[in-house]
Amino acid sequence: MRLEGSQLQDAYLEDRCDVLVLGSGTAGAIAAMEAARAGKKVILLEEGKYFAPEVKRNFKIAESVRSLYRNQGGMVAFPWGDTPPVVITLGCGAGGSSALTGGVCFRIPDKVHRHWAKELGLTELALDKLLPFYHKVEELFSIRETPQELRSKGVFKFEQGAQRLGITCKPVKRNMTDCRGCSRCNFICPHGAKQSVDIVCLPKAEECGAKLYFEFRATRLIAKNGKVQAVAGEILDSQKKRKGKFTIHADTFVLAMGTVHTAHFLLKNRACNNSGLVGKGLTLHPAIRIYGLFDEVLNSHQGALQSVYVDDFMDDGITLIAIHVPPNIISVTLPGIGPGHREFVRLSKQMAAFGAFYHDQPSGRVWRGLGREPFVTYRLSSQAKAGLVKACQVIGQIYFAAGARQILLPIWSKTVISSPDELKSLTPETVKGKWFEISSYHPLGTARMGLDRHHSVVNQFGQTWDYPNLWISDGATLPTSIGVNSQEPIMALALRNTLHMLEVGNNRQ
Ligand SMILES: Cc1cc2nc3c(=O)[nH]c(=O)nc-3n(C[C@H](O)[C@H](O)[C@H](O)COP(=O)(O)OP(=O)(O)OC[C@H]3O[C@@H](n4cnc5c(N)ncnc54)[C@H](O)[C@@H]3O)c2cc1C
Ligand code: SF4
Repeated sequence: MRLEGSQLQDAYLEDRCDVLVLGSGTAGAIAAMEAARAGKKVILLEEGKYFAPEVKRNFKIAESVRSLYRNQGGMVAFPWGDTPPVVITLGCGAGGSSALTGGVCFRIPDKVHRHWAKELGLTELALDKLLPFYHKVEELFSIRETPQELRSKGVFKFEQGAQRLGITCKPVKRNMTDCRGCSRCNFICPHGAKQSVDIVCLPKAEECGAKLYFEFRATRLIAKNGKVQAVAGEILDSQKKRKGKFTIHADTFVLAMGTVHTAHFLLKNRACNNSGLVGKGLTLHPAIRIYGLFDEVLNSHQGALQSVYVDDFMDDGITLIAIHVPPNIISVTLPGIGPGHREFVRLSKQMAAFGAFYHDQPSGRVWRGLGREPFVTYRLSSQAKAGLVKACQVIGQIYFAAGARQILLPIWSKTVISSPDELKSLTPETVKGKWFEISSYHPLGTARMGLDRHHSVVNQFGQTWDYPNLWISDGATLPTSIGVNSQEPIMALALRNTLHMLEVGNNRQ
């Protein structure tokens, strides 16, 4: 059963269930599906809208951005120190951010698993404990290597240059079946190839009896006698304005509103914050994109959005990954104004693009916002800045080795680089952090897992220290950033946490 706030007549709704899940993204959809499969009465609440897969698959890019991205893609982390504003992209709709991914899937690197298990003592997060869950989600979401024939001409150029420099490109795994290589994954796959949670999990949850409530924004946690009793909030109209109120009572509550909004919900409710850590410890994997301009036409959007990656520089905290979005999106990211910009747009069919992100230490924070949205801050560390400069150097050298005429960097005043020597002159000393154009797709860590209530918000299975019947299942719980794209780790942890929760109930472990 599905309800949509904007279609409801009543101004007040009260309901009860066994398991109430907040958020229909990667973690929430998995939690709702597994709990419903286990025979629990489940309600899943989602602030964003529901569009049937066959409807949103026909969306124009602008419609996807308007309807499925939080704030139309315009959430920004405010800079602290030598840092630019960082655009944080988040999904808000059925499937949350999962519906918008490039489909890239990585397991957490062994090194990170070892750090968590050995140095932080989080033995339940050791690779051997997580392995069965990786296997399950890889099967459930059809995660497999992207075939070579889906690499675009731009990716072939990059591979040529990398080979000349002795750098290895590896095929990316993605959650896809029958990908046609049209590079539109971030705006809903028009061919239904991407196996996101709105396609795989929400229909299964519904089949198993879960009630899915869209345009329901959770705002209040109601607790008594050491247990959460209910969640209350706003029923929204089609303009996302409040048109009514709801209260839902449950035995068990799962927060899966994403790293930024789960923390904000807890902060607004002054809940689970004995450690003082809620909202702190935010990592963003600051990400950049670099273009190589070649003499010949490449039309690099003809191919999978993301098909290869490079992990040779992971010890420096840098992951390089192919990314090429459709031409109309590229055009807004190109430098210049007026005729200069028009010229770059004209040349965009001769460009190849590659992205990079940095495995950052916690240096961001989610604060209570005055309105509905949180206030987010982020400081780009000197190590992160140096990492991003190095990423520009490496990708630039690769493109020059492949015969590029120019390199376009996401750095103010150093945007167009016309020779390898000019590239070499870029160093952490000559580039300011605030000159970078940075975005983030993998916010993590604002309600982290740990061994006790003084140093963490939840235990190793996502159960909050404060309320035994309140669990957190999303990216907020990751104890550190991971250096790879975050969806498969969140899927595996959400599956493991939910099965554990169903097994032990709300008993304190
Ligand atoms: C454009 C884009 C591309 C990406 N590409 C990749 C990729 O290729 N590979 C990869 O591994 N990762 C990728 N990611 C990251 C990945 O999508 C996220 O790590 C993952 O989906 C996070 O899962 P989550 O469950 O924590 O949150 P989300 O999936 O973001 O789900 C949170 C949900 O909670 C809802 N919500 C928030 N507040 C409330 C409230 N008060 N009441 C009710 N509902 C609420 C939100 O609307 C949202 O639907 C990408 C992300 C984006 C935005
Ligand atoms: S590249 Fe195109 S067909 Fe393949 S998953 Fe992405 S949007 Fe779908």
